[in-house]
Amino acid sequence: MRKRSTFRTRCVTLPCLVAAVLGAQAARGSETPLTASSELSNEIVDRAKVDVARIQTLVGEGNLPQSSLELAEARLADVKDEAILSETLYSSLKLGDLTAEQQAGMLDAAQRRFERQANLVGERQKLLAMGAIARVEMRSVETELETRRHVLDLAHDRIRLIEAQRQMALEEQNLEHALESGTSRKAMLKFEGNGHFYSSDFEAVAAAFEQQFHYPLPVTAHGQTRLHQSLGLDHRGKIDVGLNPEAPEGIWLRRLLEERQIPYIAFRAAVPGAATAPHIHLGTGSSRIGLAQR
Ligand SMILES: [Zn+2]
Repeated sequence: MRKRSTFRTRCVTLPCLVAAVLGAQAARGSETPLTASSELSNEIVDRAKVDVARIQTLVGEGNLPQSSLELAEARLADVKDEAILSETLYSSLKLGDLTAEQQAGMLDAAQRRFERQANLVGERQKLLAMGAIARVEMRSVETELETRRHVLDLAHDRIRLIEAQRQMALEEQNLEHALESGTSRKAMLKFEGNGHFYSSDFEAVAAAFEQQFHYPLPVTAHGQTRLHQSLGLDHRGKIDVGLNPEAPEGIWLRRLLEERQIPYIAFRAAVPGAATAPHIHLGTGSSRIGLAQR
């Protein structure tokens, strides 16, 4: 029940979205180590394949009805989809490292698992109406349907977060272009601090933020990812936080960073012509990102 309540959150704000996605990932991770989880799902897929082959033989010999084979094949499809989710939705891969194919595969797998269960619930409801099964027999299939709906919601949240991260990376790429062309950069605010950003700085800042606001610092990008690479950005050792620098939480965070002399770049609004993705980039700008004076 604890896990399901984690999935229940539906978010309209980015910090909430980040908390929901990371919270669900952490909850899953605390139950099963990721590599073990992946190995386990591969093992389950292999077993389901063996079952299909065995049942196929029995059906061929006339010892089992055709419907048994259909059930086994549906089970195989279901565990294959679960394996896809293990490698994407529940994996420790950074958001920006998921390829477009993996993102689409994740969403499709979650959707198929939801639809399969919805069909099963529909069939059971017919049996219930006919008096062939008791009400209590509906409970487990309905509970599973609810869980799969939450997983599907989570997959959609993950995609939204990836898109937000992409917009932020584009803002940083645009800043580089703006610097090269000498365009006005009123949308950006830079604090140089002591010129260093260590992981211990981040840990202390994240802890202070959580203590102040009672939710985790909404980190949208931690270090370099495939996404940054594709945009020609060096984001190694840099962290993006999905907070508007002008909102109370963003102002509070900037004050803390300045007190501690931690360098940051605040993206207040869109660079003209770009999508709006306000955020706070912790750390110095890279040589590719470039820096402007405050
Ligand atoms: Zn950044």
